[in-house]
Amino acid sequence: MRVEQLGEGEPEVAVVGGIHGDEPCGPAGIEAVLADPPEVSRPVKFVVANERALAAGTRYVDADLNRLFPGSAESDVHEERLAAELTAELEGCTVLALHSTQSYDDLFALVDDVTPLAREICPQLSVNAVVRTAGANEGRIFSAVPSTIEVECGYQGSSTAATNAAKVIREFLAATGVTDAASTTRTDPLPVFQLGEPIPKDAADSYEVFARNFEEVPEGEPIAAADGETVVADEPFHPVLLSPEGYEHVFGYTAEKIGVLD
Ligand SMILES: [Zn+2]
Repeated sequence: MRVEQLGEGEPEVAVVGGIHGDEPCGPAGIEAVLADPPEVSRPVKFVVANERALAAGTRYVDADLNRLFPGSAESDVHEERLAAELTAELEGCTVLALHSTQSYDDLFALVDDVTPLAREICPQLSVNAVVRTAGANEGRIFSAVPSTIEVECGYQGSSTAATNAAKVIREFLAATGVTDAASTTRTDPLPVFQLGEPIPKDAADSYEVFARNFEEVPEGEPIAAADGETVVADEPFHPVLLSPEGYEHVFGYTAEKIGVLD
């Protein structure tokens, strides 16, 4: 784990990238901001989390870090130790954690709950949606550091995702008062979704998805298929993180629209 700091004193704001080693946008965004550092009025730390997985270009070395929080310092599992280290490093901080997906090319945020902090910061970020994970976040960073805002920056490995990551870091620094940069003004209300159940995926040779993320799927419509075997919506829902190959055992998740942030 690599930690860098801008400004003097103990930071209460942190930016984390590289929780997943096959998502280079976070570390690239952090590098871009550190290479052209802004004037800061509060200290901020930057953390590149899973350097071993990044070097290997894999999601993880032993197990998925974002399913292992709060972790254990004594574990034999690399990511379990790292989760404990990261939990200690981020204690007391408002955190931006950068990710990317195989499912969606635009930015969206995930939060534990729609707290006053999330309500204030999320509309100042270039995101299209906010996903509330409360009740479905076991082992995620939220279970150890609930004052985290995760942002999915676009497609894994794309240069757009890296550019988006740098942009959203600067917006987050403005929103948290680390910099005096003008905050982004939003014209459209920001929709909020509650994360629901995973959409199970059977082992198969080929996968397809038919639904679009954040767009309502009516009851009876096909969602996805494994070797031509179609999965149909048994009730209307909004898909989130839906992709053919993004996860081993699920296509993605169901979600329900629960409101908007102005
Ligand atoms: Zn990720």
